[in-house]
Amino acid sequence: MSLPVKIAMNGYLTIPKSICCKLCKICGARPVIKADVAGLYVVKCPNDDRHYQTRPGLIDIDDWNRHNSVYYVSGRDFNPQVSC
Ligand SMILES: [Zn+2]
Repeated sequence: MSLPVKIAMNGYLTIPKSICCKLCKICGARPVIKADVAGLYVVKCPNDDRHYQTRPGLIDIDDWNRHNSVYYVSGRDFNPQVSC
């Protein structure tokens, strides 16, 4: 699988806007792709390594999407709501 990715200034590969991918469900960031020294790819949150990241291998946006299936609601941290 090859994607028309571009290398960003921080060394990550950016995912084209045309690719459907979900935002990080923890912080709402658009994921990036990191290529490690072995040539394996990880789809990850650009903000925090503790947020979800796929296992090294092929670029697996489907896996990322499955694990970030809750849409981020902007501002929810500032206006918490309890649902029960
Ligand atoms: Zn995140």
